[in-house]
Amino acid sequence: MATMQTVQVELGTRSYPIYVSPGLFAEDGNAKELLRPYAAGRKVLIVADSNVAPLYAAAVERAVREVSGEETALCVFPAGEQSKNFETVAMICRTCAQNQLDRGSLIAGLGGGVTGDMAAFAASIYMRGIDCIQVPTSLLAMVDSGAGGKTGVDLPEGKNLIGSFYQPKAVLMDTEFLKTLPRRELINGFAELIKHAILFDRGLFDKLLNAGDDILTHPPMDEMTELIALSCGLKAGVVSRDEQEKGERMLLNLGHTFGHAIEKVQDFCGFEHGEAVGTGLAASARLARELGLLAQDEEEKIEEIVRKYELPMAIEDCKPEELLHAMYSDKKNRNGTIRLILPHAIGHCEVHHDVPDETILKIWESFLP
Ligand code: ADP
Ligand code: ZN
Repeated sequence: MATMQTVQVELGTRSYPIYVSPGLFAEDGNAKELLRPYAAGRKVLIVADSNVAPLYAAAVERAVREVSGEETALCVFPAGEQSKNFETVAMICRTCAQNQLDRGSLIAGLGGGVTGDMAAFAASIYMRGIDCIQVPTSLLAMVDSGAGGKTGVDLPEGKNLIGSFYQPKAVLMDTEFLKTLPRRELINGFAELIKHAILFDRGLFDKLLNAGDDILTHPPMDEMTELIALSCGLKAGVVSRDEQEKGERMLLNLGHTFGHAIEKVQDFCGFEHGEAVGTGLAASARLARELGLLAQDEEEKIEEIVRKYELPMAIEDCKPEELLHAMYSDKKNRNGTIRLILPHAIGHCEVHHDVPDETILKIWESFLP
């Protein structure tokens, strides 16, 4: 078995480890040992969606049960963003109550970002807060939502409008789980991984750019473990320096002001989140080059990586003016200006507030087919 990688998220008394390894939850895997500090002698509720539960709940239950010494409870909800609401959170909390979970119990989120966000949100409010651990199964959740402690649910008025910061006690990532992830979801996850590389780590960027062509078809487990651990290390650093997004953590919005605008104008029925972020990364690079902040060959490399990971480089059926308007309504903006994160080099980005509308419109136009 490949060696396990460990990343520590440093947050004082709330610090926690992220473990990344293929086969963690295999019968002879390390999961039992890693779970012991959090699950021994405790009642555990596993939360999973209807796609992930049939695939992996049994393996996780087996590991948890051996350590906790009790039957585990399972809460399954219908897969998809449309489940990310208060009703599902209420169902998770009710399942906790029906299974006599108490202040000393544990919730484990097993799944993608939707599951992780809701499991952690439920854990943060059930009995005024009980412990949770995360077992991310999508690449997006592994590199993005698995580490960082953001929880959330959607409202009819908008996505992620409700939520809190609530850090897990540990995050266990079994990269073998990625083998069943649909290709489109894998691509989504790569968008956030590429984002971390453009923000902070040229070496990681080159690894991603030079990865073999099988990376999307048969992602090699050792390589994935390394890439995910590097990405988590970068994000963990940001989160420990700026847990509540008052400063540096804003950088993680690279590609997202553009991406959110696309998702919004498409009424969340077009690109998936990662796809929109991928286009947003290319748009940020083009804009940075247009403003003379980024060298041409750097910008070309960013477009090349976006294409390599089959992220979209053209937006159909959207008007540039609508996209610009949507950028103004992004909840991350302040004082009526558009806040953009722009690359100055691969591995170094900065926050900008003062980009003229005409320049942004020109960039949007360049992405129309
Ligand atoms: P995110 O992209 O934020 O992780 P979701 O939690 O909705 O969002 O996960 C994306 C989709 O991938 C969902 O349909 C989910 O059920 C599915 N999924 C997550 N992990 C796996 C996996 N390891 N194998 C197969 N499907 C998975
Ligand atoms: Zn994102």
